Amino acid sequence: MSTADGYPLRVADRARTLAELDTLLVECRACPRLVAWRERTAHEKRAAFLDHEYWGRPVPGFGPTDAPLLITGLAPAAHGANRTGRMFTGDRSGDLLFATLYELGLASRATVTGPDDGLELFGVRVTAPVHCAPPDNRPTPGERDTCRPWLAREARLLRPTLRTVVALGAFGWQAALTALGEAGWEVPRPRPAFGHGVRATLTPVDGTGSLTPDGTGGPLTVFGCYHVSQRNVFTGRLTRDMLRGVLAEAAHAAGLPVEDPPRQG
Ligand code: SF4
Repeated sequence: MSTADGYPLRVADRARTLAELDTLLVECRACPRLVAWRERTAHEKRAAFLDHEYWGRPVPGFGPTDAPLLITGLAPAAHGANRTGRMFTGDRSGDLLFATLYELGLASRATVTGPDDGLELFGVRVTAPVHCAPPDNRPTPGERDTCRPWLAREARLLRPTLRTVVALGAFGWQAALTALGEAGWEVPRPRPAFGHGVRATLTPVDGTGSLTPDGTGGPLTVFGCYHVSQRNVFTGRLTRDMLRGVLAEAAHAAGLPVEDPPRQG
């Protein structure tokens, strides 16, 4: 469905549960360039995946609906989540992320292959500010803004339990802060700059708690972390220890127990 049908701005706000949100999200066709790319990639496929049935649609968030920790990146990879239909699954970025979550006791498996691999996340949900795979992994500012209502609504629905967010990369950081501002938290001014290991505290805005009439939903700590992209990992900009350090801090701040020392995959 396109922007002319109210996608996603008006439609996302209708969702009363994350399951409803996901059902609406996967029908979204609001960004013509991304719709064409995700479908073309799914049709042409990569040689290694010729016998795979690509998802080729918007990729929903993944993880428990009462997660206190949300990890948000950039967008699905063309032959990763755009193929498997599950966020951060099917490419090397996800391999590192899930292996590290496993080490910390926040995931049931160290290796992931696809939606039928039995992966479970414990207290953690993974999502993205742009839900369709973009060419060259680069959504335009307009596509980022068009997609924002999905992330804002996801955070709003998580609000009763959500305590920490890990934003991967500068793009994820900026997009997350704006979406969280729309979801009912006040973003500090001037807006905190992205950096690996930086953190920002967002306070709930009074009068925006229609989904949390009992007053649940508290301050939120947002952690910056270099993106788990292949380039960052290959160049050593992001090491496994660095990723584990930020995820462990965020989990701790969210009240989640973590394995210490980390378990082996
Ligand atoms: Fe819809 Fe977001 Fe995909 Fe654009 S990127 S088509 S807004 S789901």
